[in-house]
Amino acid sequence: MISRKKLIAGNWKMNKTSADAVTLARDLVGAIGKQSDVEVIVCPPFTAIESVGKAIEGSNLKLGAQNMHFEASGAFTGEISAPMLRAVFTTHVILGHSERRTLFGETDELINKKVLAALKNQLRPIFCVGETLAEREAASTLKVVQTQIELGLEGVGKDQASSIVVAYEPVWAIGTGKVATTEQAQEVHAFIRGLLAKLFTEALAQKVRILYGGSMKPANAPELLSQKDIDGGLIGGASLEARSFVELVNAAAVK
Ligand code: PEP
Repeated sequence: MISRKKLIAGNWKMNKTSADAVTLARDLVGAIGKQSDVEVIVCPPFTAIESVGKAIEGSNLKLGAQNMHFEASGAFTGEISAPMLRAVFTTHVILGHSERRTLFGETDELINKKVLAALKNQLRPIFCVGETLAEREAASTLKVVQTQIELGLEGVGKDQASSIVVAYEPVWAIGTGKVATTEQAQEVHAFIRGLLAKLFTEALAQKVRILYGGSMKPANAPELLSQKDIDGGLIGGASLEARSFVELVNAAAVK
């Protein structure tokens, strides 16, 4: 059986000035910068990405962005491209986050263009999918997630797919304090892995990390992370303080 290294990613969203972000990054480097049991990624806002990149240099922490445009350059006021992110040593990019989908109208087609552009530029997408509360109550969770994955990963080659990290984030659990039960989460994670095996290969599906996101905290993480198909977490609120984020990384390090 393939053992996948656990991955914990912090999505700082629209929080922290550059100075505050550097302070948090330095605290994280001090506490978990040397550990190698868990892959750790921090995703600061764009204004702090370069300074955080410098603060984590030489540590095991990696740098992620929260979004990007699919074009490399041009007249796209307010946007940031994959080559710009690469130039400041970003390795990962969150794409398709539900806040981008619902608040900024991002469609599966647009997210797909971003996924392909990220891969072309050697950026690893943290590709987010998940159902709303209404969709869960209508028992359409798996169908919704399937559509998001099929459309979002269209055109991704078998050779590229291993660079992708999938994050299952039930929209009703993000920032609400409502966490999916371990059974609910594991069911969707196993479904996603099965789908990846159909779209790519079984071997590839066994390699891809599938993160859970939605009110993951030190208190609920151990149970979620003990599930067969839950390979880590995409963390919002609990990533904004060093103490809780470090506890989450330590929870993921438990074998
Ligand atoms: C997120 O926004 O990706 C997220 C999981 O947020 P929170 O942990 O705050 O629910």
